[in-house]
Amino acid sequence: MRQPLAVIVGAGVAGLSAAWWLNRIGWQSLIIERAANLRAGGYMMSLSGPGYEVARRMGLMERLQQVRHRSSESIYFDKHGRELLRLRHREFLKEFSYLVLRRGDLVKALAEMTRADCDLRLSTEVARTELWGDRVGVTLSDGSAIEADLVIAADGVSSTVRREMIAADSDVMKPLGYRFAAYDVPDTLAPNADFLSYAAPGRISEFYKLSKGRLAALHVWSRPSPTRQGPPSAFDELADVFRDDHLNVRNIIAAGSREERPLLIDDMMLVEAPVWSRGRVVLTGDAAHCITLISGQGAGMAMTGAAVLADEIGRNENVRQALIAYEARMRGPIGRLQNRSRNIARWFVPHSVIGFHLRNFALRNMPSRMLARYFRRSLESEILASNLSDAQDQLAEPEKSR
Ligand SMILES: Cc1cc2nc3c(=O)[nH]c(=O)nc-3n(C[C@H](O)[C@H](O)[C@H](O)COP(=O)(O)OP(=O)(O)OC[C@H]3O[C@@H](n4cnc5c(N)ncnc54)[C@H](O)[C@@H]3O)c2cc1C
Repeated sequence: MRQPLAVIVGAGVAGLSAAWWLNRIGWQSLIIERAANLRAGGYMMSLSGPGYEVARRMGLMERLQQVRHRSSESIYFDKHGRELLRLRHREFLKEFSYLVLRRGDLVKALAEMTRADCDLRLSTEVARTELWGDRVGVTLSDGSAIEADLVIAADGVSSTVRREMIAADSDVMKPLGYRFAAYDVPDTLAPNADFLSYAAPGRISEFYKLSKGRLAALHVWSRPSPTRQGPPSAFDELADVFRDDHLNVRNIIAAGSREERPLLIDDMMLVEAPVWSRGRVVLTGDAAHCITLISGQGAGMAMTGAAVLADEIGRNENVRQALIAYEARMRGPIGRLQNRSRNIARWFVPHSVIGFHLRNFALRNMPSRMLARYFRRSLESEILASNLSDAQDQLAEPEKSR
């Protein structure tokens, strides 16, 4: 029998996961990736809830445990460098299945698991997509033409497939009112903690200590009207926004600029697409439903969505019905997580001076037991929001032999 073929656009978390799960149900995949290589490093992220469970089912845990960030102590400062709070996250999060790692390490682990089972074409894009009933015609940027049974758009928040096949960016990308930037630099910070956070009204800087004397930096700041701009090395913008912040923050931005580090800088956008599929073209991961970094579940939901998509394709004779069933199963948790992102953004980075001082007051004065309970509850409610209710248990365990 002919093996069905999926063209997957994007070799990120969603695309690689989709290839792995499709292989389990007998499909072949061709992954098209715009970048010249699968970027290593990248920003720090956490994996918990359904995403953690899907990673376990994929047999990824051993690899991920090797590259996880082991955090013992976190210190929170105000903009003058006054210490507000010192926390040992590991102690009070120990009952959770939870790990922190770099995006590039997750992508590398997924690629190692997947590459033998699928074709990966780097430095390639989709030039044209045509719907032909139960087939899709795909023309690639290198001129080659492919007839596929399914196109999976896993090309991230600014998906070109979504723009071409589903809806214009202006109809689906909803700004949260913040911008963010992430990069890594040599570690010049003295305090011996694994995570340092500096806050000022309307902005926050977080630094994770990495191995080999490096530091992963994340800045988030309020920006009511989005710009959708930013040259690839926009350290000048960062230096301007954080010009009154603590010297440590300014020094790290200056080091990033001096070293000309690759900088990820963008507006924070929710993606709310009216539908996730058209014909045999389907959106997954951030392309379908970006929930932003405010919720620590974006990568997890990208992996979960890939598993659900393959599960539905495996159950349904009719691929169109499978795509509709996949969307129906994912819409609930995605809607809850997006609402959560909207609601908690203003606590993560308070816009107003009063909100900022209230936050600092709470961090400085709340007994650590209460704060630990607050962080635990917050993670619990995030995991609850991301659960697929009964659908998660309907996911088949993957075949062990493959
Ligand atoms: C700073 C930051 C912190 C975050 N923290 C967390 C966290 O703690 N926990 C969590 O779960 N999530 C977190 N997220 C969200 C998470 O990283 C994303 O939800 C997840 O990476 C989405 O995966 P994806 O595969 O859909 O998209 P991406 O990971 O963005 O991958 C898209 C891929 O498609 C490729 N591509 C793009 N356009 C094209 C094209 N036209 N043709 C071919 N290829 C293309 C890209 O090069 C890329 O490889 C964070 C995000 C950010 C930015």
